[in-house]
Amino acid sequence: MVLETRVKKINGYGIDSSRDYILYCMEASQRINYNYSLLLAVKLANENNKPVVVLFNITDRYKHSNIRYYKFMIEGILKLRKDFEDLGIKFFIRKGDYVSGCVEFGKKSCCIVLDRNYLSLQRKWRSEVARSVDVAVFEVDNDVVVPVEVLSNKEEPYAYLVRNKIMPIIKNYLVEFEVQTPSIKSDHLDFGDEFYFNTVQEYLDNLNIGKSVKPVSSFVGGYDEARKRLTGFIHNKLHSYKEYRSDPTKDFQSNLSPYLHFGNISPVEIINEILKFHSFDDPNVQSYVNELVVWRELARNFVFYNPNYNKYEGIPDWAKQTLEEHSRDEREYIYTLEDLENARTHDKYWNSAQKELLITGKMHNYMRMYWAKKLIEWTRTPREAFDIACYLNDKYELDGRDPNGYAGISWCFGSFDRPFSERKIFGRVRYMSANGLQKKFDIDKYVEKYENQKY
Ligand code: FAD
Repeated sequence: MVLETRVKKINGYGIDSSRDYILYCMEASQRINYNYSLLLAVKLANENNKPVVVLFNITDRYKHSNIRYYKFMIEGILKLRKDFEDLGIKFFIRKGDYVSGCVEFGKKSCCIVLDRNYLSLQRKWRSEVARSVDVAVFEVDNDVVVPVEVLSNKEEPYAYLVRNKIMPIIKNYLVEFEVQTPSIKSDHLDFGDEFYFNTVQEYLDNLNIGKSVKPVSSFVGGYDEARKRLTGFIHNKLHSYKEYRSDPTKDFQSNLSPYLHFGNISPVEIINEILKFHSFDDPNVQSYVNELVVWRELARNFVFYNPNYNKYEGIPDWAKQTLEEHSRDEREYIYTLEDLENARTHDKYWNSAQKELLITGKMHNYMRMYWAKKLIEWTRTPREAFDIACYLNDKYELDGRDPNGYAGISWCFGSFDRPFSERKIFGRVRYMSANGLQKKFDIDKYVEKYENQKY
């Protein structure tokens, strides 16, 4: 039941069992455990007496290709290649774009399995693959607990509506996963020159990627690292997650977002692991599930059904209207992108948040809200603020270029939120202030951590 509800056939062709192998083109789900695309590929391989071949395309032409992202991704990929080798499955790394890779390797495959991805460009790639080959292409909703189209067939405006839909069925999806292996091995198959190097550095030297966004030492990519963080979180932080998760001076978040973004770990595995030590009804577990499943899957619903998810146009009409009404309100400060990018504003809290982002590759959740709200106040128009928020978020956050980023930024502009009482610049969109930070937290501690650090 679980696998079937995740799979969608996206073209009209059948499986051609006269061909050589089942092809799995890995992209969004860079892991073996709790990988339902791999599970499907192995199932089809065993039913058709074929081996499985896994293809991973590396392109240096993707948005904000920079060393920060590639270092993290390749750290994970090199370990993954070794793990596939141990399973007797060929994991072929190819330099080039996703579509041409899937099509080229698809010529000899009985059918193709793809991870679902939710952003418009990745969805376009999948349609192109489905159109360009003459065998069945299956897409697997692999990185959510409840598949997007099971959850809803329309854009959901509020988190509580998503919560009401998810909670009654969530346990159906929290099924233990066992890695299956194909009966026929593929590790001996020869596909010519592979884009393979022994070290991450060699990849970075051989890819034409931006060097201006520095790599970070705070996060190392890969499933093993995600598991280490998960174990530390379960045993040292989860007991106080509800109370402290919003406090930027304390480190009580799980820090799993970069791993979730690259698909190094599945949200289903995270919850199943937590449930080995805590009950589902524990308030801290409930609070964590609310973020990991409700808000994260609301974000996937948002980008799946709202074609303007990464644009100012995508926010609700009431929010656009009220922001427009106040777009000529006088702004006390106006900053350029360069000022903002370099953390040069009058506000030490905001500068520290931007520095946390530059230096660690991950800003604390509470500060992300404050950070994006202030952009509305300090730029000429709300549209400019929205674009700058997306630009900086996608450029520097290790978990950036993700549905959560577009949903999080849109939330700061009124999405999934209610109107508040009218005020300058923000109109009826929720406002956040430095005073609020001071009242809620010992916020100067946060500033102390970053103010003297150099990027
Ligand atoms: P934890 O508190 O440990 O939460 C666990 C997981 O739950 C996270 O990894 C994430 O997958 C999910 N989650 C937590 N909070 C949210 C949320 N508000 N919305 C959706 N999912 C959530 N998240 C990203 O993954 N990528 C982004 O680019 C991103 N940009 C954001 C921009 C803004 C302006 C805002 C307000 C939020 C943004 N978020 C983004 C959401 C959130 O801040 C991060 O997911 C969270 O801080 C990641 O840290 P963590 O893994 O330690 O979180």
